[in-house]
Amino acid sequence: MPDNQQNLFDTEPPPWELDDAGQVLVASVVLPVGPEGPFDYVVPEKLRVGLQAGRRVRVPFGRNNRLVIGYCVHVVTREVVGRKLKEIRETVDSTTLLSPAMLRLTEWMSQRYLCPWGQVLEAVVPTAVRARAGTKQVIFLDVDAERIEKYTDDQKKLPDKQAQVIRYLLDAPHPLPQSHVATAVGCTEAPIRALRKKGLVQATTRRVHANEPEEAPVAQQPDLQLNSDQRLALDSILKVLRDQRHETLLMHGVTGSGKTEVYIQAIREVVSYGRQAIVLVPEISLTPQTQRRFRSRFESVAVLHSHMSPVERHWHWNRIARGEIQVVVGARSAIFAPTPHLGLVVLDEEHDSSFKQETAPRYHARNVAVQRATTEQVPLVLGSATPSQESWYQATKGQYRLLDLPRRALDRKLPEVQTIDLTLDYRDRYSRGALSRRMRQAIQTSLGEGGQVILLLNRRGFSTHIQCRACGEVVRCPHCDIALTHHRQGEKAKCHYCDFIGDAPIHCPACSSPGIRYSGLGTQRLEAEVRASFPAASCLRMDSDSMSKHGSHEEALNLFREGKIQILLGTQMIAKGLDFPNVTLVGVVNADTALHLPDFRAAERTFQLVTQVAGRTGRGDKGGLVLVQTFSHDHPAIQAATRHDYHSFASRELKSRQEFGYPPCTAMIRLVVRGPENSLTEQFAERMAADIRQQAIQQQLETRLLGPTEAPLAKIRGKYRYHMILQGDTGDGLRKVVSATTRALRTPDEIQWIVDVDPLSML
Ligand code: ADP
Ligand code: ZN
Ligand code: ZN
Repeated sequence: MPDNQQNLFDTEPPPWELDDAGQVLVASVVLPVGPEGPFDYVVPEKLRVGLQAGRRVRVPFGRNNRLVIGYCVHVVTREVVGRKLKEIRETVDSTTLLSPAMLRLTEWMSQRYLCPWGQVLEAVVPTAVRARAGTKQVIFLDVDAERIEKYTDDQKKLPDKQAQVIRYLLDAPHPLPQSHVATAVGCTEAPIRALRKKGLVQATTRRVHANEPEEAPVAQQPDLQLNSDQRLALDSILKVLRDQRHETLLMHGVTGSGKTEVYIQAIREVVSYGRQAIVLVPEISLTPQTQRRFRSRFESVAVLHSHMSPVERHWHWNRIARGEIQVVVGARSAIFAPTPHLGLVVLDEEHDSSFKQETAPRYHARNVAVQRATTEQVPLVLGSATPSQESWYQATKGQYRLLDLPRRALDRKLPEVQTIDLTLDYRDRYSRGALSRRMRQAIQTSLGEGGQVILLLNRRGFSTHIQCRACGEVVRCPHCDIALTHHRQGEKAKCHYCDFIGDAPIHCPACSSPGIRYSGLGTQRLEAEVRASFPAASCLRMDSDSMSKHGSHEEALNLFREGKIQILLGTQMIAKGLDFPNVTLVGVVNADTALHLPDFRAAERTFQLVTQVAGRTGRGDKGGLVLVQTFSHDHPAIQAATRHDYHSFASRELKSRQEFGYPPCTAMIRLVVRGPENSLTEQFAERMAADIRQQAIQQQLETRLLGPTEAPLAKIRGKYRYHMILQGDTGDGLRKVVSATTRALRTPDEIQWIVDVDPLSML
């Protein structure tokens, strides 16, 4: 009996068909742009077969029912009260783009990084895949042997060509493309159409790749015999694998300790189960050398790099999704590789900042990897010679298992590291250039013995710190323990964390010397000096200015490897993962450039940089020397780096983070506001800050908001920038405060703001 009470309010029957239980199929759809959703739609009868969560659909949206594409994230049969739901118009994908596990991962990212789900989905499924780059629709033909029999039993006879087509198809083990059949039989499409009409041949449309890219097979090499440290590390990973559970293992191995060989042998096990592994490396390490390393050990490797064409990207993606790939090697976005049976995730050089995406969704691949590995119950291996404070903190708490490789493979010694005190050198009036006398002598010696030299100058080109040339004193904020930044306008010294502003000093506050220095030295000036000083040596500069063309980086490294270049100089680009046995001298031109950036991670970055670049030498029989020029030779980060002493650096640094309340001991969200007009932008930032404080009080959450203050990069492309930093004990608390604030916020058209959860960049 229908409920009459209900009918009083809702007399018209709903426009869709209900099943026997009065229920209907409803899909939740997330849109990539605009309002967040998810929005519910009814699935019409004709679309039921092809619709699944993880595929895209076309739906009417808004008052004028504009058709938009969205992601179906959930399908359920349920009762629908009223008739408010619209119907899905059509399905877009015939294959699933996101597995249930990947849908859950993207939803988690959306919550964790305060980014609309639809925007996350668009970031996770490559554009090339959404556009189906390089594929076309192909009609496949199949025959039903029974029908054919029945047809001939009825004494009917087929025309010659049609009979030939049938015979050809009956012989084929699987459906064939229509054009292929026509060519093979030597007929037009007419007889095939006739057969389809009679129902003797079935046609289905499938998307296939127009041209399959060719990949030359690589000769396979045997695994190496592991040393005892490597063996222990591998056994720990294998144990987790065999227990079929998740655990994050932090492999702290000095440069050249053979971490990669451990990854490879762990992957060997994973592959033997028929499962796949994902290996994430910094973009800059995706060199042909790395590719060869994995290709020479596994039959099917997909290397995903940023210079791939859309066609290649789509092709790789499909092969991965079909389970044809054993090992996926790629930069941060490879964590979204659609492997059907993930067995292991490896993140090499886990401290590297390129794992953080600096556009929305502003995710960190390490955190996403932890989440993915946890839900898929597989181990995650993080490897580094200089683990991040984030990972180290987890290891000290027992959340991650620590694996140690304290020695270089093959028992090569770590290079000797010495500092050159630039404050002494300043008094020596004969060496006013970038290179101290001792550095010059060392270069001369190294070249004289047929060795090669790497010179690192990590000069990031914006306003510089304020440093005394005589004693090395760096002017700091009284409240933040962070270097003040010199602003030419008005000759001010500003703190970029709090609001402190002072006058730029004319005399050193420590030693009263007038030798205060503001300007920095760039790689180009260094190059000129090196060329003038060592005219007989060939020298190459490597930084983002000189290496903007694709392939130029690799080309330069090849020249260096072949010995055609004697001195390679450049920014941190040269510090990473390169293995050159003939490098006998590494010179760090100014270790302080990173040390005094307005960033609480400055010491960590300096330690990492010096350690990593030092690892580039002493890889051959000749041994190696590292010389570090610095004004702060007794700074703990530099001291620890000279002793290769990660442990003392890390525990000291962690203590200081604890003391000042910085991550990883606390959570942090950074908000940046930008606009074309300075005071309006500042006012809006102030309003936002006031709202955040209000929210924190309302929700009774203890938080600390620094700012708003001018961002260190105060103006970019004509836009003024202000930022504020919210800190608190838990990320969840901060997220609650920020999302409540932004939800209620009305933003003027000309103002934009971003929310950066767990920020890495403070600029
Ligand atoms: P890491 O990644 O820790 O810096 P690599 O994996 O690049 O170190 O290894 C450094 C060098 O040592 C490589 O040339 C590698 O082939 C070699 N190597 C590593 N493990 C072994 C081993 N067990 N036996 C022989 N050589 C090894
Ligand atoms: Zn001084
Ligand atoms: Zn301050």
